[in-house]
Amino acid sequence: MTISKFPLLLALALVDVSNATLTAQQVVAKARSDLVPRLSTGAFITFDEPPRWSTFRAPEPAVTVNVNSESDVAATVKFCNAFDIPFLAQNGGNGWATTFTLKNNGVLINLARLNQVTVSPDKTQATIGGGALVNGIITAAKAAGVLVETGNCNCVGALGAYLGGGYGNLMGLYGFGVDNIISMRVVTADGKIRTVSASTSSDPDLFWAMRGAGPNFGIVTSAVVKSWPAMSTERSAWTGALIFSPEKLEQVIQAIQALELKHDMNVFLYFISSGPPSNEPVVLTTPFLYMGNATSGKAAFASLYAIGPIQDTTAVLPYTEWNSGGDAFRSRGPRKPSFGVGFQAMIPEVWRKIWNMYTEFQKKLGAEASVVLLEAYPSTKARPNSVPASFPHREVKFNAVAIPWYNDSSYDAAALAFGNAARELWRGNEDLSVVYGESLPRLWSIKRRVDPQDKFNQWFNIKQ
Ligand SMILES: Cc1cc2nc3c(=O)[nH]c(=O)nc-3n(C[C@H](O)[C@H](O)[C@H](O)COP(=O)(O)OP(=O)(O)OC[C@H]3O[C@@H](n4cnc5c(N)ncnc54)[C@H](O)[C@@H]3O)c2cc1C
Repeated sequence: MTISKFPLLLALALVDVSNATLTAQQVVAKARSDLVPRLSTGAFITFDEPPRWSTFRAPEPAVTVNVNSESDVAATVKFCNAFDIPFLAQNGGNGWATTFTLKNNGVLINLARLNQVTVSPDKTQATIGGGALVNGIITAAKAAGVLVETGNCNCVGALGAYLGGGYGNLMGLYGFGVDNIISMRVVTADGKIRTVSASTSSDPDLFWAMRGAGPNFGIVTSAVVKSWPAMSTERSAWTGALIFSPEKLEQVIQAIQALELKHDMNVFLYFISSGPPSNEPVVLTTPFLYMGNATSGKAAFASLYAIGPIQDTTAVLPYTEWNSGGDAFRSRGPRKPSFGVGFQAMIPEVWRKIWNMYTEFQKKLGAEASVVLLEAYPSTKARPNSVPASFPHREVKFNAVAIPWYNDSSYDAAALAFGNAARELWRGNEDLSVVYGESLPRLWSIKRRVDPQDKFNQWFNIKQ
């Protein structure tokens, strides 16, 4: 056999596989004939993708099933299994994995209509729908007089964030998102609906696995999470923006490294555009002190204020406005490949190099909105978790992400080069042992049992 025959054999093998795979048209026809009659009133199919935060490597389905009940989710998974159609659940559409693909002949299960949020009469538990967004939870929590640990960006799917760990403003007080989950209703790869919790009568192994690697195991239709009764005075924080000129970068980095973050504090750092018309890149920090005021807030973050911000919008903000500063990130659509990593130390020289790479990319026409973001939360998040979860990163001090942000796909190569270089400078590449740490061997074994055919294969896939 000569080398030149290999491509031909490969092509023949692919033809065999594609013969067994339905085309987009066939998927649409099957969905109309075999799925739609099984869906509840209020569910419907569409042929475009609900907007995503980033269009970079978006999944591109043949059909979107807009489910309206958990039995719709189960029926859709069973339908996909019956015809060997790939599928993917979408919640907030903010997933920044770049491995989502439905190859134009798969089914997107849009959870957006499963967005109900209710709080128990004793205010200690909230039931959140699998499609609820962070801002929906905060609105319901405020109305009920409670706090719920959520992500810091209003547009993110609450469970999308929880299932990967769940960072948020209240972490120092109440732990990670995964620590707040009491039970979940889950549609697994076999299309069955299960209740999973730490109880030995459910499937505690699956409960452990899902709290850190959730999208690999099933679709959560709703979850019961902890809520924390709070008077209105307990639903406020000292927060806002401190903007620094670029030459202060090293001082800002050193101040963040040296900050002793108490349980009620966190701090973010952004490289971001000052906005049109100049779009000058600036260094912006957002200190956060739960229940803080001007006196306690400025004392807690004295080292940052002492550097001399050129702009200061810090103030007491109510719970419903804590995430407002991040609303600029909500915009859907442009390409935003994202390169995230966790690490232990802020090194000024590394950050200067990343600043230089960032400003080089950000000055491109149409790439002005590009961002670099760092989040630092208190180490109380590393406290031993009463209900163990597969999420492994309790000890990580800093999380950073480089987000090249643009419309023009001809920038892709430069965007990937910038993002990869930034991530390498921070720490190195993100393989599975980095994503799941010591949890990986146990996750592999639960995966073999619960999803042996690897149906849930799009989000940091743990297939062995
Ligand atoms: C602008 C922005 C801000 C962010 N802020 C935070 C933050 O403050 N805290 C934080 O922890 N993370 C944050 N993240 C990261 C975010 O949590 C993850 O990207 C998460 O995967 C997004 O979830 P989603 O539902 O919005 O996205 P989607 O793309 O809809 O989902 C992402 C993955 O989760 C799966 N998934 C979503 N919902 C379910 C469900 N109900 N059941 C099973 N699988 C599900 C999807 O199938 C997909 O594999 C942020 C991301 C962005 C882009």
